[in-house]
Amino acid sequence: MAKHIDNNYYKPGDFNAICYECGGKFKASELIKHWKGYFVCSRDWEPREAQDFVKATPDITTTPWQQSPPAPNFITFCTPEGMTAISFFAIAGCALAGYRSPAFDPNIFDNNVVELGV
Ligand SMILES: [Zn+2]
Repeated sequence: MAKHIDNNYYKPGDFNAICYECGGKFKASELIKHWKGYFVCSRDWEPREAQDFVKATPDITTTPWQQSPPAPNFITFCTPEGMTAISFFAIAGCALAGYRSPAFDPNIFDNNVVELGV
């Protein structure tokens, strides 16, 4: 069958359709589905860009394993300096209001905590 320039001819089981890209009139059987979902003529059809399917390698920014430092291991006890009610010497839970130990030495401070060796 000779092809008509305007594609206005009868073809059993087919129908006229417009190319989504160029607007040309074609028979529906001549159009190809584009990857974007619409139908185009063979001249306007193009494959999907291969870069659309590139998958990046996951960037793992953490170390293979982690751990927290151990909890401090302290023993606190009251000292004569810590039992006084003088600020800077007094120890919470140890100081007594109005009390000053006879063994109080103002040159000693911050000696109420002993760190235990692990
Ligand atoms: Zn076209």
